[in-house]
Amino acid sequence: MRPTTTLVAVTLSTLRGATARTPDYVIAGAGTAGLVVASRLSEDPNVSVVVIEPGSDQRTNPNVTNPDAFLQAFDTDLDWSYPVAPQPGAGGQSFVLHQGKAWGGSSAINGKSQRSPFPLPPLDSYPL
Ligand SMILES: Cc1cc2nc3c(=O)[nH]c(=O)nc-3n(C[C@H](O)[C@H](O)[C@H](O)COP(=O)(O)OP(=O)(O)OC[C@H]3O[C@@H](n4cnc5c(N)ncnc54)[C@H](O)[C@@H]3O)c2cc1C
Repeated sequence: MRPTTTLVAVTLSTLRGATARTPDYVIAGAGTAGLVVASRLSEDPNVSVVVIEPGSDQRTNPNVTNPDAFLQAFDTDLDWSYPVAPQPGAGGQSFVLHQGKAWGGSSAINGKSQRSPFPLPPLDSYPL
């Protein structure tokens, strides 16, 4: 039977005030990779995992749930909107680098486009 996955998302201030036992693992960022790692680690019921995420739960935000609306999430509270230094190779232009600031990280603001691996091995052939 597959063990229950326990995932705790807390802010740094919550973690500082916590009185629970020291977690076995602290993962910085509840983005795509961080949550996969947290999920896999917490399959072991003897292991405690804490995920620190500055963003919030945006699962009811229509700009997250509607794949057509992801551009509306840009430059809002759920986008880090990192400024990029002027790029000599781009004629001195500067840019904004978008990254998700929410549970799910950039998957909260991405276009949700996907394609199958190519060439096409059965997905089940990947070791998990
Ligand atoms: C605009 C956009 C569109 C995209 N479109 C697609 C698409 O259509 N299809 C596709 O497959 N991929 C797409 N991607 C790419 C995909 O979303 C990312 O490659 C993937 O989500 C990155 O995962 P990650 O875990 O590396 O980082 P992220 O998912 O970005 O997670 C990083 C997490 O760390 C948190 N964090 C940041 N600083 C700190 C800190 N100091 N302490 C703690 N936590 C912190 C962030 O808030 C975030 O939650 C898109 C990405 C973007 C930005």
